[in-house]
Amino acid sequence: MTPSPSKLIIVGAGLCGSLLALRMAQRGYKVVVYEKSADMRKNYHDAGRSINLALSARGLMAMDRVGLRNKVMEDCIPMKGRMIHPLGGDSFFSAYSGRSEDYINSVSRPGLNMMLLNEAEAMENVQLRFNCNVAKVDLENAEVEYTDRTTDEKHTDKGAIVIGTDGAGSVVRKAMMGKTTKLLFNYSQDFLRHGYKELTIPPSATKDWKIEKNALHIWPRGHFMIIALPNKNGSFTLTMFHPYESDIGFNNMKTQEQVRGFFETNFPSLLPHTPDYLTEYFENPVGTLGTIKCYPWQAYGRTMIMGDASHAIVPFYGQGMNAAFEDVRVFDDLVELHDGNWAEILKAFEDSRKENADAIADLALDNFQEMQDKVDDQAFIRKRKIEMQLEQTYDDYYSKYSLVTFRPELSYAVAKAQGRKQDELLLRMCADDNYAEIPLSDYYKQLKNIEL
Ligand SMILES: Cc1cc2nc3c(=O)[nH]c(=O)nc-3n(C[C@H](O)[C@H](O)[C@H](O)COP(=O)(O)OP(=O)(O)OC[C@H]3O[C@@H](n4cnc5c(N)ncnc54)[C@H](O)[C@@H]3O)c2cc1C
Repeated sequence: MTPSPSKLIIVGAGLCGSLLALRMAQRGYKVVVYEKSADMRKNYHDAGRSINLALSARGLMAMDRVGLRNKVMEDCIPMKGRMIHPLGGDSFFSAYSGRSEDYINSVSRPGLNMMLLNEAEAMENVQLRFNCNVAKVDLENAEVEYTDRTTDEKHTDKGAIVIGTDGAGSVVRKAMMGKTTKLLFNYSQDFLRHGYKELTIPPSATKDWKIEKNALHIWPRGHFMIIALPNKNGSFTLTMFHPYESDIGFNNMKTQEQVRGFFETNFPSLLPHTPDYLTEYFENPVGTLGTIKCYPWQAYGRTMIMGDASHAIVPFYGQGMNAAFEDVRVFDDLVELHDGNWAEILKAFEDSRKENADAIADLALDNFQEMQDKVDDQAFIRKRKIEMQLEQTYDDYYSKYSLVTFRPELSYAVAKAQGRKQDELLLRMCADDNYAEIPLSDYYKQLKNIEL
């Protein structure tokens, strides 16, 4: 790799920005990262008890690129499938894949972010500037204006390029929106009428996991649901995905009696494990969920957005971070391919990523319905059964979920097109009560005949 004297400015040291800083530094670039928050490594005491995320093959492929797969995997808990907890019925397990080597991983979000920051900081050509809030971006000249929050002083800095990895509320994207007609900038933001709130299942008295450790748990309830991902310290982080409106919505459940009544009616099997749910319900904030699409992602060959800044999605496929990490890997490929010509790299990046970001955004919305409403539906359960058998029998068959989650060499756009067609066909075949009598080879043949 030829070290380049070019200086890259990255706005935002979240998951995407810290990985990008590390990779670009490994390539020899000088990297300066401005992050508005304080350094999370200085204030964080227990990463294991924190909010967690599902890391899967696309994210891991990006970890390979920076040589961190094994280190990251040490901090992960494998989740081999979904453990479904129907109301009033027995819990059952549904594997994510018919191939035992295909599973997703629960990882602490701050733990992973801190690891990436440590690795980036260990590079002599990376400068991490915390407490620096970027307020303005000169898109054409790759210049940022930021306030150092420790002194309240304003400064500017200029790079060969600026990359905004500053999340869903991106200031870099807003600077592009300020040039709407010049850039022909398109933008859409669609909020769900659902928000989310985190609760906890603490570890048992023996510091163990109180429910199955190697699964992503779902309590599907039609228009709302709770999910749980395991943490290393024996706890689980629960996430309520829940409407704002309606009698039982976040906006209207205001008293302890209402919340207790709601949980006792809808989540009785969960309550023995959640001693603090009432306190947590009232103390923890409600987060919004939405999809942001925009285009272009770059301006003047000098400024670009990446990760949630350019494509925030709802979390139901567990792919937001994975897609952001995939952005970094694809960007890195393009830096190699175009030999450091930024104008070409930035254009090629948006050209290759936009349709894939749109595809995973759409798939994530599909999965919202599936998780809260379909996972305990008969046709869906039958389909999953057939899909498992197909994956166990045929080397070249992958379900839609597997195409998206375990086939990182396929683009999201291809996974979406192929996966949706497969789903349509299988759901049609499995709606027949005699579905189990159809030979597996017939399913396979029909799936192979699908035209894309
Ligand atoms: C409830 C929930 C569950 C999720 N679960 C999963 C999952 O299981 N798997 C998965 O892959 N994804 C998941 N995601 C998505 C994932 O969290 C995001 O896709 C990911 O965090 C995007 O990373 P990012 O670095 O682009 O943005 P962010 O993580 O938002 O980081 C942006 C950074 O920029 C900084 N910043 C912002 N503005 C400025 C500024 N003006 N100046 C300087 N710095 C600034 C911020 O402080 C922050 O550090 C989930 C999301 C939610 C909401």
